[in-house]
Amino acid sequence: MLLPTFDYYRPAGLPEALSLLAEMGEDARPLAGGTDLLVNLKLKKAAPKALLDLGSLEELKGNRTDDGKVSLGALNTASRLASGGPEVPGLLSLGAGALGSPQVRNRATLGGNLVTARPAADICLPLLALGATAVLAGPQGEREVPLDGYFQGPGYTVKQPGEILTRVLVGAPRPGVGGGYQKLGLRQAMEIALVNVAVYLELEGDGETVALARVALGAVAPVPMLSPGAAQALQGTPAGEKIFTEAAEAAAADAKPIDDHRGSAAYRRDMVRTLTLRALRQALSQAQGSKEARS
Ligand SMILES: Cc1cc2nc3c(=O)[nH]c(=O)nc-3n(C[C@H](O)[C@H](O)[C@H](O)COP(=O)(O)OP(=O)(O)OC[C@H]3O[C@@H](n4cnc5c(N)ncnc54)[C@H](O)[C@@H]3O)c2cc1C
Repeated sequence: MLLPTFDYYRPAGLPEALSLLAEMGEDARPLAGGTDLLVNLKLKKAAPKALLDLGSLEELKGNRTDDGKVSLGALNTASRLASGGPEVPGLLSLGAGALGSPQVRNRATLGGNLVTARPAADICLPLLALGATAVLAGPQGEREVPLDGYFQGPGYTVKQPGEILTRVLVGAPRPGVGGGYQKLGLRQAMEIALVNVAVYLELEGDGETVALARVALGAVAPVPMLSPGAAQALQGTPAGEKIFTEAAEAAAADAKPIDDHRGSAAYRRDMVRTLTLRALRQALSQAQGSKEARS
């Protein structure tokens, strides 16, 4: 399958990229790793006249920690995130490491995953559980949008066509905080999740009471979603099997799966229960481990 013809631009900086986008409007599309966009061009699902390669934009690169917040560049590849480092939350590494194959992970970017916004996307889900905020740059300047409210439908977000997602802000990794990520597919690798669950758990100083929890569910609604019931069940209670089972039940009740050719709604709901329980155990072990390791 051949690519259609298009004009190729490689802007040197963010201002140039934004002004090219403003000039060309819907005729131009940003290009990051190309693992979604180039496939869609070949399948004729998209036909932009021009591609703007974001690869030279320093504003979208690297990670920095400032005042307890980490700012992650949109051009971080899944491989880079999966390999971790002091500034990358462990939960994000787990999700990024579950995306596609090594070849896909070497190209696929954080920004592309958030803009493509699939309901089961492996980078979106951990970021939602982490309470991340997207930074969108446009002709009027920058705006920050919490991910809880960013996703509008499959492949549809609050990002406007003239905007570029530059960075994502998350809390810096610290002791007493843990994450769990579970992905179920019809096969072991190269698979979009049938159900995936990301859990963020923050413990009080006693190392047992849950100070804050977020449970994000994938492939069970038109967008990656948070389970308010699970968060409520966990908050302020001692972490452990009893409350984890209640939270997993609440997550299954909050999920809004539908029957499709890959699995029934009832099966997906059951799997939300199972995967939430596993992810909670994983998050607790990480939170307690990280506490012991650093205290
Ligand atoms: C074989 C294969 C397996 C895959 N498996 C998985 C999987 O298991 N899990 C999963 O989540 N995904 C999977 N994907 C999908 C894809 O790899 C991810 O969504 C990836 O993160 C997209 O990033 P990219 O940099 O390649 O985006 P691109 O293809 O470059 O861009 C995707 C879209 O986002 C826009 N865009 C990109 N970056 C920006 C930005 N910074 N600002 C504004 N717009 C931007 C582009 O214009 C385009 O519309 C798979 C894809 C393939 C081909």
